Amino acid sequence: MAVGIVKDDIYLQHITDDYHPENPRRLEHIYTMLETLDQKGLTYVSPRMATHDEIALNHEPSYIDSIARTSGKPRTQLDGDTVTSQKTYEAALTAVGGALELADAIQSSRVRNGFALVRPPGHHAERSQAMGFCIFNNIAITARYLEQKHNLKNILIVDFDLHHGNGTQHSFYNDKGILYFSTHQYPYYPGTGGYEEIGDGAGRGYTVNIPMSYGMGDEDYLYAFRDILVPVAEAYLPDFILVSAGFDTHYNDPLGDMAVTETGFAAMTRILLDIAEKHCNGKVLFVLEGGYDLKGLASSVRAVIMELKGQSVYPYEKKGEPSTTIVQMTTIIKRLLIPYWGHF
Ligand SMILES: [Zn+2]
Repeated sequence: MAVGIVKDDIYLQHITDDYHPENPRRLEHIYTMLETLDQKGLTYVSPRMATHDEIALNHEPSYIDSIARTSGKPRTQLDGDTVTSQKTYEAALTAVGGALELADAIQSSRVRNGFALVRPPGHHAERSQAMGFCIFNNIAITARYLEQKHNLKNILIVDFDLHHGNGTQHSFYNDKGILYFSTHQYPYYPGTGGYEEIGDGAGRGYTVNIPMSYGMGDEDYLYAFRDILVPVAEAYLPDFILVSAGFDTHYNDPLGDMAVTETGFAAMTRILLDIAEKHCNGKVLFVLEGGYDLKGLASSVRAVIMELKGQSVYPYEKKGEPSTTIVQMTTIIKRLLIPYWGHF
């Protein structure tokens, strides 16, 4: 079965500024890279605009209306670093709708897994606030959609963007139906994502934050995945895996201080595929978040797509040991999570 890909020119019509890191050139580079791939095994899934009701699965109607009012206006500043252009509303609706169409395609086995190559990104968007280049929370809406339209019970969201997905975390903080796992540079923008944030009420234990320190690379990320994500997923038994895929942890990224390589992204994808194959028929959907080094972004997305196709172009080779910092951090986190997930 093929890998589903969502791409569309509307995503290039969300115009920020040339100096803004989150600009249309990011996707232009990725779409150009796509043309160089062997198209066999790729299925392009056409996006649509999400409906108001679908967006309202995660956002306040008054907030949705406020974004709708920006339509046709040359420029509206939503927060310090989030702006809209004439077609941003349409692009944002289609970013959500692209992820939803891909979720449907995976659920109905038209494709095996997939990558929604969309913008604007989503994981910082709060229920009624745009934030950090994000307008609608693509991944959070898709999780709610899978719950409500497809009756799925356990949805695992894995967020390996450089930044903590505050919006996603807040959407599900009291909710055990959706497990949010994030690795992120910390302390850093947006300030949330401390290891002690593990959910609240019925959702306690269903938020897992792994703060990453300056300069961490492949072995540290892979250690966090193997030491925490794999055993938690083993106990949680996901029905579907959603991935907030940000590539601003790439060693060349201008916004981040991390050192992840294409090989690291491929190996992280392999772990996610292994979890998905074991527990949910291989159902895993990647949605693009950040990544601001154009070359590194395109080559990292390529590494992920090839892995999704089952053709590793960056075979993993252990490059060293994980740092003692990450080993100590995961030990603390495991101790915190034992009441919810047992010993691991
Ligand atoms: Zn980011």
